[in-house]
Amino acid sequence: MANSNSETQRPTWAEINLDNLANNFNTIRNRVGPNITVMPMLKANAYGHGAVQCARRLSAEGANWFGVALPEEGVELREAGIAQQILCLGGFWQEQADICIQRGLTPVVFRVDMVDQLNQFALAAGRVVNVHIKVDTGMGRLGVRFDQLGEFLLAIENRSNIWIDGLLTHFAAADDSACQPLTLLQIQRFNDAVELLRQRGHRPTHLHLANSAAIFGQRDAWGNMVRPGGSLYGLWRDVWPLSIREPDLEPIMSLHSRIILLKRVPPGETIGYGCTFEASRPSLIATLPIGYHDGYIRGLSNRAHVVVRGTYAPVVGRVSMDFTLIDVTDVAGVEVGDPVMLLGRSGDLSITAEDLARIVGTISYEVTCGISNRVPRHFKSKT
Ligand SMILES: *Cc1c(COP(=O)(O)O)cnc(C)c1O
Repeated sequence: MANSNSETQRPTWAEINLDNLANNFNTIRNRVGPNITVMPMLKANAYGHGAVQCARRLSAEGANWFGVALPEEGVELREAGIAQQILCLGGFWQEQADICIQRGLTPVVFRVDMVDQLNQFALAAGRVVNVHIKVDTGMGRLGVRFDQLGEFLLAIENRSNIWIDGLLTHFAAADDSACQPLTLLQIQRFNDAVELLRQRGHRPTHLHLANSAAIFGQRDAWGNMVRPGGSLYGLWRDVWPLSIREPDLEPIMSLHSRIILLKRVPPGETIGYGCTFEASRPSLIATLPIGYHDGYIRGLSNRAHVVVRGTYAPVVGRVSMDFTLIDVTDVAGVEVGDPVMLLGRSGDLSITAEDLARIVGTISYEVTCGISNRVPRHFKSKT
């Protein structure tokens, strides 16, 4: 992950507020209480926020489990010295069973052959490997179908070097009150699955179902471990039911650039690809060195605003791969080199990931995940 304050780089960067991350983590911890393990989800480079730095700060705050999607992501954390437990929620690809064992990553399993492979490598290494079994209770994605769990358990019996350390499921629509019947059914199926495991003599330590929406909206789905992602990063306004009261969660990412060129454009002239913006007055147009390759989505063309010198300025013309144009005609005293905020809060002015997401028809998660590696992350914290 690029992380540099170098003066030799183009002035476009994302600022990551690690104190806000810590506050969000503690808000979630306080909400579920001391008997429930909070496992921060650090997949997808911590939703674009920088997995290693987030893991370090969360470790300092007392996190002892982290969730990733891929073993590769777990390896990245291990190489950075993260010693906490790491759960690979997407399981592992065929060749990766050995890596999971060597790196001490706990895989989620949902096929018999995954368990067999792990057992073989574990035998050879003289180790016992912890796994979490994923049961599909209604999401229809990863997991052993709830009505085939008995069969699955039978098929993996007597794998001497496998220990079933956890059971989990994932909600399809805990964020949608219209889907509440499905959510309740998923909880019931999960409870039945726990019961079945116990009947078969298994003693899983960790039982977990809840994503952010369920942590804040579905108290009976906490199990003894919860898996917050978006809420940890202060993203929730577009993925939670409105019935959930506004939680004390702050975004942790802001996105910044600087004006590299100012030019006067007479009325009647167009700017940018496709001539999508025509100046209707003598205009002052500024160029910013950020574009859709950086994750400033092309769909924001002519629709988003940025903040410069304490005021909103509109994005004009098409966002291109490396550059974006803004109209600063009404910005008093504007100069080349002025900082521009494309995402974040500045005094009373704010541009949230949810705002940008709404414009382009997606969710805030995709906005922060999409800020590319070309944009260095600058990590800020007071402690
Ligand atoms: C991403 C993910 C989560 C976190 O979901 P949020 O809505 O971001 O809180 C939890 N569990 C699983 C299995 C996930 O893949």
